[in-house]
Amino acid sequence: MRIVVLTGGIGGARFLVGVRAYARQIGADVTAVVNVGDDVRLHGLQICPDLDSVMYTLGGAADPERGWGRVGETWVVKEELAEYGAEPSWFGLGDKDTATHLVRTTMLNAGYPLSQVTAALCERWQPGITMLPATDDRLETHVVVDLDGQRAIHFQEWWVRYRGDVPTHRFVFVGADKAKPAAGVLEAIAAADVVLVAPSNPVVSIAPILAVPGLKEAVVDGPAPIVGVSPIIGGAPVRGMADRCLATLDVEVSAAAVGALYGARSAGGLLDGWLVDEADAQAAVPGVRVKAAPLWMRDEEATSAMVAAALELAGVEGGTA
Ligand code: GDP
Ligand code: CA
Repeated sequence: MRIVVLTGGIGGARFLVGVRAYARQIGADVTAVVNVGDDVRLHGLQICPDLDSVMYTLGGAADPERGWGRVGETWVVKEELAEYGAEPSWFGLGDKDTATHLVRTTMLNAGYPLSQVTAALCERWQPGITMLPATDDRLETHVVVDLDGQRAIHFQEWWVRYRGDVPTHRFVFVGADKAKPAAGVLEAIAAADVVLVAPSNPVVSIAPILAVPGLKEAVVDGPAPIVGVSPIIGGAPVRGMADRCLATLDVEVSAAAVGALYGARSAGGLLDGWLVDEADAQAAVPGVRVKAAPLWMRDEEATSAMVAAALELAGVEGGTA
């Protein structure tokens, strides 16, 4: 069985730990198609927060407290940059992380596509799944805000510097119109027995993936059932700022509303099935099969059970596809 997962960073990475565990039990292959909308060039370094969250988490090197970056991180480079007054100073650039960004940037500058660079970095981290960026092309999420008049800032600045706490008009996926799915993405989707949408931020993690022309069509027109997992439990994001992102779109912070935002595959949307937490068992999404299961990703076991429930909802339980 082949499982494809559309995913953002921290929430998606934790979900993938469970996907990998369940896939090992049933002998399935896993490919993650990872958001690149957060990617940003700072201090001359190409930084890919979601790819790195997934790679470090599955490689057993993520900081569990902070949720992003490396465990045992140090901050000498950041402090030295601050001494020079080098901007931006609001970005958490760790020393260990910097080595990753240096290797990545050197390879990109030498002409390798991001998908090959990611594969090269994964030789060290051995995530146990195939990791693909959604696109090898530049696709960046920018945010139109009011800051001394209306202007667009990079998503990282909106998120990290302003904590999303500035009057926000909309999100724009810069470059999306010209982006192509990265090498291997369409092949993985075509070969998938099931496509899972991780409990990632729908607005700034999953939407930029689906904004790559041809990618959503490949998923929706493909043969595999599509099941999403709700990042919202009982009317609140478990962590992160999905509520601020949803508010910008005038979407209610509820499992039902996020399911409806993705929409039914049968009505031009994405989903065949929508897995919600037991607290949201009453949630209904027109045209979508909704099922409830415990969705707190407490540990690998709990998360693996979520994945089993998602595959059952997809009708491909236990590798019987
Ligand atoms: P980011 O790119 O680092 O922001 O991470 P993602 O977009 O992949 O995931 C962020 C989302 O994960 C948030 O919107 C949270 O609601 C969701 N999330 C985090 N922990 C859990 C959990 O234990 N259960 C569920 N269902 N969602 C979670
Ligand atoms: Ca992200």
